[in-house]
Amino acid sequence: MTMGRVFIVGAGPGDPDLLTLRAARLLQGADAVLYDRLLSPGALDLCRADCRLIFAGKSPGNHTLSQEEINGLLVDLAREGLEVVRLKGGDPFVFGRGGEEALALARAGVPFGVVPGVTSAVAAPAFAGIPVTHRGLAASVTVVTAHEDPGKEGGQVDFAHLAKSPGTLVFLMGARSVGRIAHGLLEGGMVPETPVAIVENAATGRQRALRCKLSEAARFAEREEVSPPAVVVVGAVAALAEELAWFRPEGDQEMPWCRPSPEDPTEIATHSAIARALGARPE
Ligand code: SAH
Repeated sequence: MTMGRVFIVGAGPGDPDLLTLRAARLLQGADAVLYDRLLSPGALDLCRADCRLIFAGKSPGNHTLSQEEINGLLVDLAREGLEVVRLKGGDPFVFGRGGEEALALARAGVPFGVVPGVTSAVAAPAFAGIPVTHRGLAASVTVVTAHEDPGKEGGQVDFAHLAKSPGTLVFLMGARSVGRIAHGLLEGGMVPETPVAIVENAATGRQRALRCKLSEAARFAEREEVSPPAVVVVGAVAALAEELAWFRPEGDQEMPWCRPSPEDPTEIATHSAIARALGARPE
């Protein structure tokens, strides 16, 4: 039997229109798709009716498939001769464990490719009107995990060092840790007035963009009941949202694909413009 292939593909965050054309084409041709929890459902509309759709996502406290099981499944499906897409939210190599899966495939001798995606680290701020770099305000951007493996000894995130960064900090997986992030940065000497923005459910009909100062962030996030998925942006650029917030989650004529569907106002319309343009099957 001929060996199949696996493509590790980024789906972008929120709106399925943020898929790349290559991702869309691979989804249309795939025999099997292993997908994660944060995916906008519309992305899967592109798959053929006979495509095997396998949920591999993890919800907090409920690990559907272990990472080893996912790696093993990808190898097995390719060995069956299938064209496999491993679809991940955002970019597969930005806190997506795409690298671990690529290593497993490489070591098993399975042909694979990687399709970068629009990462929420940049897109969530952009949807809130925040350029992560801006001339005169931020010449660098650092993407940081706010969710360290609890089993890990010590930590890999050096807050004292981050606090001295003159650029933008973007924390992923930090919705429940805003207090800890703010505390760490203040302890490290960051100016209490530093602007902070929290962008929840970016690029969806439920997007919420909140702003405050670093010194108030802990109490603010608690009061607002910030919940995942959200990115936390720390740095001068966060203040630009005041003038640049352009996205209307409720949708309008310019952004018809962001209109909430009538049945469920919390979901964006799943059959996206790009899906239609590429001839996806109707629901
Ligand atoms: N590979 C993904 C990140 C996976 S880690 C990427 O490149 O975007 C999951 C984290 O991504 C979440 O905890 C959150 O911080 C962020 N995230 C993903 N989708 C998001 C969205 N629609 N809005 C805000 N943050 C999002």
